[in-house]
Amino acid sequence: MAEPIRTTLQEGSVKQAVIDQYADDVSPIIGVDNVSSNHIDLLSTCRDYWPVNSIWMLEGAVPALPQLVIWPQTTEEVSRVLALAHERRIPVVPYGEGSGALGGVVPLRGGIMVDLKRMNRIRNLDQENLLVTVECGLNGAIYEEQLNRSGYTGGHFPQSLRCSTVGGWLACRAAGQFSTRYGKIEDMAVSTEAVLADGTIFRGRSVPRTSTGPRVDQFFIGSEGTLGIITAATLRIWPLPEKRHLASYTFDQLADGLEAIRLFMRAGARPAVVRLYDGQETGNHFPELGDQRSVLILLIEGAAKIVHAEAEVIEQYVLDHGAVDTGPEHVEHWLETRFNISAASRLLQKGAVLDTIEVTTNWHNAHSTYLAMQEALNGVEGTMLASGHWSHVYPEGAALYITVVGFPGDDKITYYKKFWQAAMAACLAEGAAISHHHGIGLHRGQWMGAEHGQGLEVLRRIKNALDPQGIMNPGKLGLREVSKWEK
Ligand SMILES: Cc1cc2nc3c(=O)[nH]c(=O)nc-3n(C[C@H](O)[C@H](O)[C@H](O)COP(=O)(O)OP(=O)(O)OC[C@H]3O[C@@H](n4cnc5c(N)ncnc54)[C@H](O)[C@@H]3O)c2cc1C
Repeated sequence: MAEPIRTTLQEGSVKQAVIDQYADDVSPIIGVDNVSSNHIDLLSTCRDYWPVNSIWMLEGAVPALPQLVIWPQTTEEVSRVLALAHERRIPVVPYGEGSGALGGVVPLRGGIMVDLKRMNRIRNLDQENLLVTVECGLNGAIYEEQLNRSGYTGGHFPQSLRCSTVGGWLACRAAGQFSTRYGKIEDMAVSTEAVLADGTIFRGRSVPRTSTGPRVDQFFIGSEGTLGIITAATLRIWPLPEKRHLASYTFDQLADGLEAIRLFMRAGARPAVVRLYDGQETGNHFPELGDQRSVLILLIEGAAKIVHAEAEVIEQYVLDHGAVDTGPEHVEHWLETRFNISAASRLLQKGAVLDTIEVTTNWHNAHSTYLAMQEALNGVEGTMLASGHWSHVYPEGAALYITVVGFPGDDKITYYKKFWQAAMAACLAEGAAISHHHGIGLHRGQWMGAEHGQGLEVLRRIKNALDPQGIMNPGKLGLREVSKWEK
């Protein structure tokens, strides 16, 4: 007989008889083929891309196991399966494609994984109003391909495009690589459809704006499965761009690059892609440029005349700050390699611990936060690399994205916790926000109090009002302590 699978963070589970009864009762609602307690299904949905999961997996353990996986196919089915779980107080975790970076899908108390991948239709393409209504489980790359076939783009390209869902983007407040022109997912979502813990269905209205109280649609964006299940959304789309302009420049000083970006954003330019890499990352991603200068990658797209004007405005600011024009080919290289993360797997197999930490800075602390976080990370024994780049820029600031690689020897988990503590302390001391787009999940919850102050209490009250039994994705978003991880 096979040995039971070792779990590291499991806090509890539901009595097997309750789960068996639930499976019997939901089978007629969603179809017996859409209900499974097979080991392979429990294992495939029990974790995400949180690097700690990989460390444990290589040691033969998983963080926690669900007891049942179900695949509803309509909003009405989601409503009925949630109502039953609510009545019986069974924990529920929504599951997209498991590309979350912070343990958001880990089923700490067992219960049911609601895998949403079979809710994958585009319900309506409204070309006159430039809106698409799409179900939550549609894969990101397929969503974009389907829009492209009709002459549109969704404008949303997270690096995880090929392994994430539209619902996952909304649940985590995702940001794509072209976000400076098209916005982040919350800017694209005109309305959402969601099911609350007790089965109540909420459907927002797809009008451009209302002054009718707080927008309930927005409650669900970023709620990471703790307030309900987002079943569909109506998102903005754009006609495929007429013209695309690629440009790259290098700067002697990183700070000069940041200042040039601040100024062209202030002047009103909105290139789709803006990425400024420090010397280490310039050397890693563009070896032909060496590691002594910082490269700025720009992609401007839209109507030809506007693209031309934006390129001119931007060039003036970057050249005024001592930039050297390095041509379009580095951007072409970036476009070709932007979804490739194979280097991470190779490092993992060599015994490295690695992660990425994205935070939000204003312009006044953009450079100092980078220096402070880098110093803090390099101060942790075992760190081999703490490099950074900025992307997702705004008139008021930018996202700072740090990559950490360390070789700590045997105690990888202690090292992981130490470098995150160091990085988050430095980020908070600089007044930056602890996450720009990966969200909170399980791991980053421990800093939610420091991030929000009383705001966390407001979030807890909303959670208690919408999910009084506490069944929705327990232990996430910092709504309570996860003692097995945080101690
Ligand atoms: C290599 C890599 C690159 C990445 N690049 C980016 C990037 O560029 N930009 C970015 O923003 N993120 C990025 N991420 C993070 C991740 O891909 C996003 O957070 C993504 O939005 C998660 O989508 P998913 O469908 O895989 O969600 P999952 O991982 O399955 O779930 C994430 C969380 O959302 C909840 N959830 C999922 N679907 C729903 C739903 N329909 N209703 C309610 N709750 C739900 C889950 O319970 C969980 O808490 C990256 C991750 C990886 C591994």
